[in-house]
Amino acid sequence: MKHIPFYTLVHQNRLIESEVHSFYKDLHADAWYILGKRVLQFEKEYAAYHSIKHCIGVGNGLDALILSLRALEIGKGDEVIVPANSFIATMLAVTQVGATPILVEPDSRTFNITTEEIQKKISSKTKAIIPVHLYGLPCDMDAIGALAKKHNLDIIEDNAQAHGAMYKNQKTGSFGIVNATSFYPVKPLGAFGDGGAVTTNDDELNKKIRLLGNYGSAEKYYYQTVGVNSRLDEIQAGVLSIKLKYLEGWNEERVQLAGLYALLLKEVDAVLLPVSSSDWKHIYHQYVIQTENRDELKEHLAKHGIETGIHYPVPAHLQKAYEFLNLKKGSLPITEKLSETILSLPIYTGMQKSDVEYVCEVIRKFYK
Ligand SMILES: *Cc1c(COP(=O)(O)O)cnc(C)c1O
Repeated sequence: MKHIPFYTLVHQNRLIESEVHSFYKDLHADAWYILGKRVLQFEKEYAAYHSIKHCIGVGNGLDALILSLRALEIGKGDEVIVPANSFIATMLAVTQVGATPILVEPDSRTFNITTEEIQKKISSKTKAIIPVHLYGLPCDMDAIGALAKKHNLDIIEDNAQAHGAMYKNQKTGSFGIVNATSFYPVKPLGAFGDGGAVTTNDDELNKKIRLLGNYGSAEKYYYQTVGVNSRLDEIQAGVLSIKLKYLEGWNEERVQLAGLYALLLKEVDAVLLPVSSSDWKHIYHQYVIQTENRDELKEHLAKHGIETGIHYPVPAHLQKAYEFLNLKKGSLPITEKLSETILSLPIYTGMQKSDVEYVCEVIRKFYK
C-alpha cells in the first residue's frame, strides 16, 4: 500500500543540503550566534521581498504578535478583533498583553474574516484588527483597510501561513501598520527550529520592537524599557536566507498540486473545494476541503495509507484556556460547523502528481 504523509520536509532538506552544510561550516568557523551578520542579512532580504522598509527577527510567531501589540501600546481595557477560527496563537497574543480578544466568524468558503462580521464587533474599546490569511489565502485587505481607516483602528497582519501570498499584486505581510509572522518549521517559509519576524514601514515601531525584543536595550547593559528576550538566532537566519530563494518555487509547486486536486475532485458533489479568485494568490499552506462525512472520510483515507490533518479540531472559544470568555457552544456557529467538516489533504514540496492522483482516487471511491 502507498503511504502518503500529511507533510514532510525531507524533500526540501534534500534540495538545500549542500548549501546548508557549507553554511554550517562557515557559522562554526565564525562562532557568532546571536544578533550577528546573518540576522541582519536575512532581515534585509525578507523586508525587500515584501517591498517593506523594516524586518525585525524575533523568537517565534507568537512573540511577533505580542511585540507588535506592545509596540502599539495595546493592553488592558482594549479590544482586538481576531478570527474565531485561527491557530490559538493569534488570540493568545491579545490575551498576553492584557487586552480582550473579540472573536469574529469567518466566511464559510474563504475561511477568512470579512468586514460584514468585523463591523458587528467594533466598539469604542476596539483598537486593532488582526487579519489572518488562513491556509495561505489572503483576506480582503481593501475592504478591511477601509473599515479600519473609518474607525481609526490599527491593522496587524498575522502572516504566519501566507509567506509569498498576494492580494492584488501586493504581498501579504505588508498591509498592516505592523505585520507578524512565524518561521515554525512547517510554515511556508520554515526555519530549523522556532523563529518569527515583524515587518513594518514605520521607523518608530521598528525601533520600539527591536528594543522590546532585546531586553529593552539598544546599547548593551543600558535598558530603556522593560523588554523580553525574543530574537531570531544566527542559525535560523542563515537557514531562512537559503530557503527564501526557493520560496516562490515551492509555493508554485503547491499551487500546481492544488490545481490537480481541484481538477480531480470537481465532480465529487459531497466535497467543497477551496475557492479561488483573480484578486489573490493563494499559496495553499493547507489544502482544506469540507464535507459532512469528514470523520469517516479521514478514517477511510488513513486505511489507505493517507495521512490528513484538521486545522483546527476545537475552536479557541471552546478550549479550556478560554472558558473565561464565556462563549458557549453555539455562540460561533460557522466556526463550530467548520471545525466538524474541514479536512486538510497532504500538500508539500516534493509531493508527486501520482500521490495527488492516488488521494483523489481514494476519495472518489469513498463517495461512489
Ligand atoms: C503558527 C502560527 C502562529 C504562531 O507561530 P509560532 O512561531 O508557532 O509561535 C501564529 N498565527 C498563526 C495563524 C499560525 O499559523
